[in-house]
Amino acid sequence: MHKTALVLFSGGQDSTTCLAHALSRYERVETVAFDYRQRHSVELQARLSVLQSLRTQFPAWAPKLCDDHLLDLGVLGQVSETSLTRDMAFKMEQGGLPNTFVPGRNLLFLTLAAALAYRRGLEVIVTGVCETDYSGYPDCRDDTMKAMQLALSLGMDRRFLIETPLMWIDKADTWVLAHQLGGQALVDLIIEHSHTCYLGDRVHRHDWGWGCGNCPACELRAKGFYLYQGRLGTA
Ligand code: ZN
Repeated sequence: MHKTALVLFSGGQDSTTCLAHALSRYERVETVAFDYRQRHSVELQARLSVLQSLRTQFPAWAPKLCDDHLLDLGVLGQVSETSLTRDMAFKMEQGGLPNTFVPGRNLLFLTLAAALAYRRGLEVIVTGVCETDYSGYPDCRDDTMKAMQLALSLGMDRRFLIETPLMWIDKADTWVLAHQLGGQALVDLIIEHSHTCYLGDRVHRHDWGWGCGNCPACELRAKGFYLYQGRLGTA
């Protein structure tokens, strides 16, 4: 039985749900995020606010929630700014995805997470990747995760498990999962403290949380939330 986990935790809805999943399963949970200067400081602030709220509102989880790590990945800015990636970024944007797409970014995240997990003695790496909503990101697909699990385990000679609780569910069921894990208190915490909006908007408050309401991330989050409420109503 695995007892320890490292959660890739950005402070968004998905990774907060993944963190709750890990806290409900494992005895020691650490968190990691990457600062690559394309993020609004609002996201980094949201992480801290989610962590603090989990500690104060979920006494059963608080003792399991251990160190938080922030790794500087400024190098990613250099890659995304080259003209080589410009065409790709434009195409992804047409598909409703952000123009901040960096090829293989998630592969880098997982490699660094595994290196950190190795040093910290953590067995499971939990990440909120999902094929249902972001199939445009090839480095978030299930096959990629399985390949990474094998490559990292072989390359570091340590058996890692990459766990992806959201892989096959949509945004509405991510809210459902949060409700199952931590009840209305967790849903409320996610609404209030997690951050998804690409524009870093913490001015406009909606039923589903803070955000501009118009960017692809806000639209996805809002759509999922109202669908979730509908599913609650019919359940
Ligand atoms: Zn937005």
